[in-house]
Formats: sequence, structure tokens, C-alpha cells
Amino acid sequence: MGLLDWWRQRRRAQVLQRRAIPDDLWLDTLRSYPFLRHRPLEDLLALRALTALFLDRKEFSAAGGLQLTDAMAVAIAAQACVPVLHLGLDWYDGFVGIVLHPAEVCVERQWTDEHGVVHQHQEILAGEAMPGGPLMLSWQDVTLGGAGGPDGYNVVIHEFMHVVDMLDGQADGLPPQPDAAAARHWIGVLETAHAGLCEAVERNEPTFLDPYATHGLEEFFPVAAETFFTAPRGLKQAHPEVYALFAGYFRQDPARHMR
Ligand SMILES: [Zn+2]
Repeated sequence: MGLLDWWRQRRRAQVLQRRAIPDDLWLDTLRSYPFLRHRPLEDLLALRALTALFLDRKEFSAAGGLQLTDAMAVAIAAQACVPVLHLGLDWYDGFVGIVLHPAEVCVERQWTDEHGVVHQHQEILAGEAMPGGPLMLSWQDVTLGGAGGPDGYNVVIHEFMHVVDMLDGQADGLPPQPDAAAARHWIGVLETAHAGLCEAVERNEPTFLDPYATHGLEEFFPVAAETFFTAPRGLKQAHPEVYALFAGYFRQDPARHMR
């Protein structure tokens, strides 16, 4: 083992000791967000450790009069860590701050068209990921990702998938790939599934994925990833190619362990 590896491992052990998540808080989190616990025991232990390391690296702050609690931070950290469980926390190194609002946030958007005319409109956000951060989340929407919330909805995973997508500097639905062939395969699978979804929405057919995913590949990827981790059997049935693509990419097979 090199000196750097030794130092990293030592620091990791120190953080895990200092940031250890109390048993009752961890069990409460698993109860509140059932999709977290449908996995093998070794994955659960790794998730708890990764969550502690995440809490050490990120800075949570509250806005809009919200009182930030340990339970809120652990709930967000644990869900954010699920996609990178076998990839590592470095995937989230691009930002530090997470700002939590009590509910959805209304923001003013301004844009200029080709004639130089400035347009303004309001947008309601449940969460937002920006290059370099911070990452914004509505606590009300975070809780909808838990028990009793709509199937397959998870704002934490959605926004963290935007973070992963933007790792290469572009929000285009194509996260970093090992090589050009993998990138082509990724785009091909997503484009086909996206086109099928758009047609189904146009025909007013009920769809497994939230129609919000029709807003281009940059939204299809996070929306489909939400269901991959929280409603995997549904995704596997509705879009088997997308499921297989994500299973390889994230090195997980959540449908095997989930009801
Ligand atoms: Zn989005």
C-alpha cells in the first residue's frame, strides 16, 4: 500500500468514527425510505458508511425558515449515496453545498430571444442542480420519495443524476462513459426509449415514466434513474434496455432485491 492510500484509509476510518450515524436515526431513515433497505446486507453496511462520509464532505444549509435536523441531512445523504454505492463519492466532488427549502421554490427566469426581446417567466422548482453547486432541494418533495409517496418519484436521486450528467460539463443526458462505443450505446438506448415515450404521450397513453422525461435526454436520464433505484421492477418491465444499461453503469441490480 502506498503512503497516499494508507493516509486515505486512515482518514476514512477517522471520519467513519467521528461521523457515525446513530442506530435509531439510521433505522428510522430506512423505515421512512423503504427503497433504501431492499438490498443485500453488505450493500446496506456500505451505504451507511458512504452516507457518513457524504455528511462529512457536504455542507447542508436551510432556507425559507426551515429548521434543519440530523434526520433531514441523513435522509438526503443516504438517498444520494444509492446511485454511487459502487462508484464512489468522488462522483459528487464537483460541489459542496446543499440548500434545503421547506417546499417548492418559485424562481423568475429571464431569457433573450433572437430579436433581443427579454422574456420573463416563473418556474416552480422541487430541486435544482447547477454546475459547481449549490444543489437545491424542497424538503416536502424529498419526503414524497419516502413511504406513502408516489411510486418512482425521487427528487434527491433526480437532482444528483443531473450532477452526474454534468460531470463532463454538459447537461445532455450523457454522463461520463469509459469510451466512445459506450457513449454511442448509451445515447442509442436512451434516444429509442425517449422517442417511444414521446409517441405514447402524444397518443395520450398511460406511461410508466413521468411524461416530464419527454423534455429531452437531459431529463429522461434523471427521471428514468429515479425509477431504476426506487421502482426497478417497473422500469425493467417497461424499458428493459434502459434497465440493463443502468444496471451495468451503476453496477447494481436493484430489481433482484425489491418487491
Ligand atoms: Zn431535472
